[in-house]
Amino acid sequence: MELSITKNATCTFCGCVCDDIELHADGERIVETKRACILGEAWFKNHTAERLYPDALIDGQPATLDDAVEAAAEYLYNAHLPLVYGLSNVTCEAQREAVALAELIGGVVDSHTSL
Ligand code: SF4
Repeated sequence: MELSITKNATCTFCGCVCDDIELHADGERIVETKRACILGEAWFKNHTAERLYPDALIDGQPATLDDAVEAAAEYLYNAHLPLVYGLSNVTCEAQREAVALAELIGGVVDSHTSL
């Protein structure tokens, strides 16, 4: 099988944002990560184009995205001090949206680095 090669890919795993990674992919999975450290290699190789999970879950059960958004909105609306947490491996735009959501619902923001 012929591999596609992407040069100068950016790794967003740890925050160093290395932007000289060369990725080799077989159409579904990244199989080689030149110049990535062991963390970046694991991150790239464990993200695939396979659909491993349903679009959304409610209480562990598959759900439509619209139903899941509605359920999430209800949880957030009823929360006393919602925590918007995580945000590693996401884009600046997604972080901006998360902060806006936290402000909208009167919540707080924290990242995994507080561990
Ligand atoms: S390749 Fe390693 S050091 Fe570079 S951003 Fe990814 S995890 Fe961080």
